[in-house]
Amino acid sequence: MSGRKKRAVKPGIRAQVLVGFTVFTALIVALLWFFQIGLLNTFYKAIKTNEIRAVSNRVVSMLDDGASMTDLIEITYSTNVSILLADKNGGSISMSPNAQGSALERFGNLDCRRLFLEVKAVGGSVLEDNLEKTPGGDASILYARTVTLSDGQELLVLLLSGVVPVDSTVETLKVQLWCLTGVMLLLALALALFIAARLSRPIEQINASAKQLAQGNYAIRFPDSGTREVSELAGTLNYAAEELSKVEDLRRELIANVSHDLRTPLTMISGYAEVMRDIPGENTPENVQVIVEESNRLAELVNDLLDLSRLQSGAQKFTPEVFCLTEDIRATLHRYDKLADFRFPFEADREVYVYADRLRISQVLYNLVNNAINYAGTEKVVSLRQVAGNGVVRVEIRDTGEGIPADQLPHIWERYYRVDKEHRRAQVGTGLGLSIVKNILDMHGGRYGVSSTVGQGSTFWFELPEYRTDNTGNAG
Ligand code: ADP
Repeated sequence: MSGRKKRAVKPGIRAQVLVGFTVFTALIVALLWFFQIGLLNTFYKAIKTNEIRAVSNRVVSMLDDGASMTDLIEITYSTNVSILLADKNGGSISMSPNAQGSALERFGNLDCRRLFLEVKAVGGSVLEDNLEKTPGGDASILYARTVTLSDGQELLVLLLSGVVPVDSTVETLKVQLWCLTGVMLLLALALALFIAARLSRPIEQINASAKQLAQGNYAIRFPDSGTREVSELAGTLNYAAEELSKVEDLRRELIANVSHDLRTPLTMISGYAEVMRDIPGENTPENVQVIVEESNRLAELVNDLLDLSRLQSGAQKFTPEVFCLTEDIRATLHRYDKLADFRFPFEADREVYVYADRLRISQVLYNLVNNAINYAGTEKVVSLRQVAGNGVVRVEIRDTGEGIPADQLPHIWERYYRVDKEHRRAQVGTGLGLSIVKNILDMHGGRYGVSSTVGQGSTFWFELPEYRTDNTGNAG
């Protein structure tokens, strides 16, 4: 098998940031060129035109108020606009002092008269012209306007504003912009490389670690550096690596334990069977009994394994029903009657009903009583107690055996955990019993626990909600 599929090579963070920054900078520079160079003339003209219109409005309103050219001189200085006034016949021309030497000087009586008529003829009283092409003259804007004053007098008002040619300015700006373009592109490149390195380095490190994790190195840790998101990703991956390593440990332990536990009875069975086949007279009921017991042990182990995996995978259906727990405890203990040397005193305050999976709860009882018997020690008494109250029923199973060291207590519920690691042959259990108990009680949402003193014995307990049939017959 070839393993992984080939993927199309995607652009890396570095390339993307680099392209992004370059495009962004190019856009800014292009905009600068467009506005500074391309639109400079247009902007300048628009501003000048507006300015000259505003001046004309002021002049007209002053003329309306009876002002003469002398009164207008101040405006001409402050705005650098030259003014020519003429009557509708082109006569009594008066010019502002700053009009001397300008294009306005060339306007004679006839020109003024013609202009007056032309301006009047185009509907409004306004005419704009651009005198840039005037031969010999400086570039300028001419604004002609006809006005009828309040006394009925009709006037031609000519305004001329000098326009500085923008060509030399454009040339200067171009040189500046070329320099700016170069500097900005270099800066963008440097910044892009810096940011890309900061972003991509931690991800590259995480990627390298993740590859090792995929190859089974569960001890690998992900470096917690870079941005918040990368650091969170590293945290999540570290957690995943820890969990994977736990699962891996459990898997190894499980395989080791299961193979050990399966091999031991199998060796016994095949050993005894071979002896019985090869040695005359060994075909005794005692030897057959060993084979039967070892077969049962194998069956028990396989059943426990199946039970546990079903419980843990959730494949096991939870089928609750109402039943009398007190009755079931009695029935369970009844099955141990054969163990003549054991005593099972049972103390119950009253008959208690629960709503639970009956088969599973009896499994819990069996496992706890079996453990108590297995670790009972010399006294051979396993006492049970049932106490009900506050809507909860508590069942305690107490033995007076070897007890469990305090530091082991939290672990005994784990599957395959044994206080005595040596797998003594004398041990009867499969190492799965308490794990099954835990899973079943978790499934019921019941509490459970153990208190134990080494040398004095252990008390395992569990609690289930009590099912009460009150007057209305409903669950309590
Ligand atoms: P096992 O099949 O080995 O009994 P369990 O899961 O039932 O497996 O129990 C786990 C371990 O907890 C046992 O191996 C034993 O060391 C300890 N243990 C359980 N019950 C008792 C008890 N009543 N007294 C002392 N130790 C106990």
